[in-house]
Amino acid sequence: MWPVQRLMEQLPAGADAALVVSTHNRRYLTGFPSSAGVVLVTRDSALFLTDFRYIEAARRVVKGMECVEYDSLSQTLSSLAGQHNLRCILTEDEGMSVAEYGRVSRMLPGVELRGGVLDGLLGTLRLVKSPEELAKIRQAQALTEYGFDHILPFIRPGRTEREVALELEFLIRRQGAEGVAFDFIVVSGANSSLPHGVPGDKVIENGDFVTMDFGARVDGWHSDMTRTVSVGGCSQEQRRVYDTVLKAQLAALSVLRAGLRCTDGDAAARSVIEQAGYGAYFGHATGHGVGVEIHEEPRLSPRSGEETLCAGSVVTVEPGIYLPGRFGVRIEDMASITENGCENLTKSPKELIVL
Ligand code: ZN
Ligand code: ZN
Repeated sequence: MWPVQRLMEQLPAGADAALVVSTHNRRYLTGFPSSAGVVLVTRDSALFLTDFRYIEAARRVVKGMECVEYDSLSQTLSSLAGQHNLRCILTEDEGMSVAEYGRVSRMLPGVELRGGVLDGLLGTLRLVKSPEELAKIRQAQALTEYGFDHILPFIRPGRTEREVALELEFLIRRQGAEGVAFDFIVVSGANSSLPHGVPGDKVIENGDFVTMDFGARVDGWHSDMTRTVSVGGCSQEQRRVYDTVLKAQLAALSVLRAGLRCTDGDAAARSVIEQAGYGAYFGHATGHGVGVEIHEEPRLSPRSGEETLCAGSVVTVEPGIYLPGRFGVRIEDMASITENGCENLTKSPKELIVL
């Protein structure tokens, strides 16, 4: 069953339709990339409305929905609202701008636009990846690992962080990625203590840790991975920090399974880092969901409350230790949650690589 059909079935009483405008949710429902268009889901129809530029390709790609071409979205939408007798339409909160909301409400005078419901419905659907969706994430991860394998010989003293980031992006895109999953992080030496540092003109030197956080996009589905490598050998302290992060990462991976509280997934990694005395230097959550967005539900965070993992979710496991002004280490894999455990989707080695 296509996600849009599940959404159709789950429209709550009192709502006649759902209107999806955000790029990522539209793509999730249609499987089709476009800069324009909306998805309208009523109790008995699923429609993708788009314009002349996209309609031919959309009719070829979009499954389980009728593709409707519009000249004027306003006219098409209001006539559909009349035909289907739509009085209350659910709209997105996070994915819809104030301007879009204003435009839609002017297009549909007399129709109630109701927020606060649709994000939850879509979020629940997106939480569980179908086998086809998981296959896309696997493809994205395979391209990411291709990039990792091929960037290693490129990393040497004298290269800048920016050169490494660009080369990595080139490798992954040339190999077939639709795009990169996000702006890559490549940080070296003292910069590696910045969890989300931007690659710059810093030259990689002997003794540096180089942390690379990168991923690919395939048909709208993302991958996310981080590796820290050593250039020219490392100190005992660097080794100790690396080993601690790796131990924490393995500890979290070993407990993930359907039904686990997200806070316990986080705590599994965090307690290893705390016991080693580095608790103050692990300032972010252990992981996040990955799908049509690079960061989505569920979160492996101390702030995840009562939330539990469900089978079919894909989460990252990415503890780190960041010693300000000195160096940092992060190791990130993606795992697919199963009833009894998880499958690690990231196959690249995690033992410290010394280049
Ligand atoms: Zn990442
Ligand atoms: Zn991540």
